[in-house]
Amino acid sequence: MTTNPGKPRNAARALLAAAAICGAHTVGAAAAAPADSVTVITAATMIDGLSARPRSNVAVVVRGDHIVAITSRDSADLPTGARHIDLGAATLLPGLIDTHTHIFLQGEVPADGGYDVQLLKQPLAYRAARAVVAAQRALEQGFTTLRDMGTEGAGYGDTGIRQAIDEGLIPGPRLYVSTLAISSTGGYPLEGYAPELTVPKGVQLADGPVEARRAAREQLDKGADWIKVYMTHRSWVDREGKLVSQPTLTVEELRAVVDEVHGWGRKVACHAYNGIGLKRALDGGCDSIEHGLDLTDEEVAQMIKQGTWYVPTLAVYYKDLDPPDTPSGQRDRQRIALHGASFTRALRAGVKMAFGTDVGGFPWSESIAQEFAREVEFGMTPMQAIQSATTRAAELLGMNGEIGVIAPGARADLMAVEGDPLADVAALGNAVFVMKAGKVYRPFSGKDALH
Ligand SMILES: [Zn+2]
Repeated sequence: MTTNPGKPRNAARALLAAAAICGAHTVGAAAAAPADSVTVITAATMIDGLSARPRSNVAVVVRGDHIVAITSRDSADLPTGARHIDLGAATLLPGLIDTHTHIFLQGEVPADGGYDVQLLKQPLAYRAARAVVAAQRALEQGFTTLRDMGTEGAGYGDTGIRQAIDEGLIPGPRLYVSTLAISSTGGYPLEGYAPELTVPKGVQLADGPVEARRAAREQLDKGADWIKVYMTHRSWVDREGKLVSQPTLTVEELRAVVDEVHGWGRKVACHAYNGIGLKRALDGGCDSIEHGLDLTDEEVAQMIKQGTWYVPTLAVYYKDLDPPDTPSGQRDRQRIALHGASFTRALRAGVKMAFGTDVGGFPWSESIAQEFAREVEFGMTPMQAIQSATTRAAELLGMNGEIGVIAPGARADLMAVEGDPLADVAALGNAVFVMKAGKVYRPFSGKDALH
């Protein structure tokens, strides 16, 4: 990726202008509703992302791209002349937030060529086209914000998708992107090719504090909202039956990254399974631990002391297990067992936890909401699980009060599901209405008079 970052912006502007000339504005020339439009959304039940209990028979008043009031469905002072969307018996929620995704990955299904084929054989434009589809799928499922954790060899493509969404050219969630991500030599695929060959890598490799800081600077300069660092790489089960993970960056290398990124007012997410690499991630000052399969009590205590976020990704590890009688199959089963127990331990201790799935590591054709059932299986109440993907996730992003909550002044990011998600979190997979920034992307039962 050697594209001058100034060019795509101009190209997109030209496209926008062309769309306006052709009168094609209904395709999505705006990412938000017009500033003066007023919409009243009524629903039998509302879970606002913050309150401990749901509220019945509500009316949410949206002006432009923000929520301006919440009142009763029967209130006498609802604005007159407003568009009305009645969600009937559905449950209204804030738009959901997935804080660990990969829009540029399409699963790692071995039969489809796994991970490597995506970097070796797929043109960047093809990968970008599929990323557009992935973003649209997330939005249709009610996920109005994603923190995307690296393009896996697709360069700075995520900044272009973010721009196209922000400009209303394509439908998609608001994106927080981390571009290339950083690891050290020997710390990321592609691997296993003849040593004489130069193959692409799924991250930017950096060795030594100077290179690590430089990599962070480059990525921030080219549009990263977050910096993603891999602190562990390969994992295996040792002779005592324990899960071991190869560490990557040193504490000194990570500190250089964290120091740089914090200076820009941004944050660092660290992929870390366990052991030396996870300890280095905490000692080096990571803002969020991704996956965190195997957390010790000491590490949990350190996370609480430092205010480190935990983004577990439970469901993805239940997929594509190797046979149980193979070393990699044993490792796969260890991961599952340790991850569930670590989740429960961190939850009970009060670690700050946000919803993440690693979708892209599994195909985008699957439901993102499947993670909620795993969160509940390992100890969250359904309300805690919902909050992990609303208020808690917003807090991780530094956007509390703005997104992940239904409250006056918040952005009008809303979704609704059929059924009662507090009785069964699987209902969160049944999105029947989606609004982002006041604009309807999934009309409710076709009754909405948007078009
Ligand atoms: Zn990931």
